[in-house]
Amino acid sequence: MKNNNIFESAENNFFYSQKLRRDFHKNPELGFEEFRTSGIIAKELHSFGYEVHKGVGRTGVTGFLEGNNPGNHLLLRFDMDALPIQEENSNDYISTNSGVMHACGHDGHMSIGLTVAKIISEQKNQLNGTIKFVFQPAEEGLGGAIAMIQDGVLENPRPDYCLGLHIWNEKPFGWIGVNTGPMMAAADTFEIKIVGKGGHGGLPNKTIDPINTAAQIINAIQTIITRNISPLENAVISFGSVNGGSTFNVIPDVVLLTGTIRTFDPMIRELIIKRIEQICLSLGEGMGCKVEFHIDEITPAVVNNPQIVSKLSNVIQEYFPTFDFDPNYQSMVSEDFSFFLNQVPGCFFFVGSANQEKNLVFGHHHPKFDFDEKVIPVSVSCLLGMIDQLGFLSCSN
Ligand SMILES: [Zn+2]
Ligand SMILES: [Zn+2]
Repeated sequence: MKNNNIFESAENNFFYSQKLRRDFHKNPELGFEEFRTSGIIAKELHSFGYEVHKGVGRTGVTGFLEGNNPGNHLLLRFDMDALPIQEENSNDYISTNSGVMHACGHDGHMSIGLTVAKIISEQKNQLNGTIKFVFQPAEEGLGGAIAMIQDGVLENPRPDYCLGLHIWNEKPFGWIGVNTGPMMAAADTFEIKIVGKGGHGGLPNKTIDPINTAAQIINAIQTIITRNISPLENAVISFGSVNGGSTFNVIPDVVLLTGTIRTFDPMIRELIIKRIEQICLSLGEGMGCKVEFHIDEITPAVVNNPQIVSKLSNVIQEYFPTFDFDPNYQSMVSEDFSFFLNQVPGCFFFVGSANQEKNLVFGHHHPKFDFDEKVIPVSVSCLLGMIDQLGFLSCSN
């Protein structure tokens, strides 16, 4: 491919990209239920001449292409799942699957992936090495990346590099963000069960009140961030649910709290977990409640490879010199592409997709989420540029 044609080929395929994106948007499917979605992806990849494997990580699909020339092996990953959200938009491509919505932009990711796959297949003569397009199920905290890795997506051949991206409504169209090193947080979920002794709200002395203990535990845990961790480090502890009791005049037996921990540094993660355990144990004992703490790791931090990030800087300078490029962007949101990056050097980046003028301003996971579709050809170009920069395309001058 002549390098200056990269953006042109992405633009020329815009209607193909848009048609796919809107079809996926109209027909969203939840994690590990992407049956229709993966069927369409498999059919498209097959029509472009890829060796297609279905059922990788339950509903995942891969497309493998061998170039005409020898070279390395590259893995590109796109996620496929929608969320259990009732869409509140009013355009002609809104979800027709009640209570399910592509509210994170994974419809866009699949369209970007298939468009790149299409363009690359047309350049097979110039392709050095092999490329695997990975369409992953269940990114939204359900374990899709692990399921695919357990099914061998990183074997035969082992990738030399991996790439992934997320369209990003936190930033406007015309912005691209990445970070060398840790970019997105490790995520854990936790559950705290506080067992007291229920009874009459008017006779509290006959009870052991788990609601009062829960309130103290919630407040004390927030002091871990302000008192135990250096002000120069980043960490988040958020409670997402507080459940206990069913009426105004009864003290319940049990209160159940759930929340999430977000960190970049494994040492800080360990410190937070240790302090939560100490607080639960000591406050519980002090208040006479039995407190159980349980933690589950969802994803490690997204950590990019600096050399590969520098290639992205080159791509943006070359194709999008007027874009607002942030090479030091971090987010406390998590992303299970981290499991790929833990094993293969690579780069994950954000492409700004909000647009104030078009009222495309709602954040990810909002029932009115929608994005500027101009982000699709830009993302396609960035990936094509990266494929070129990593030595997978010979110039055809
Ligand atoms: Zn999401
Ligand atoms: Zn997402």
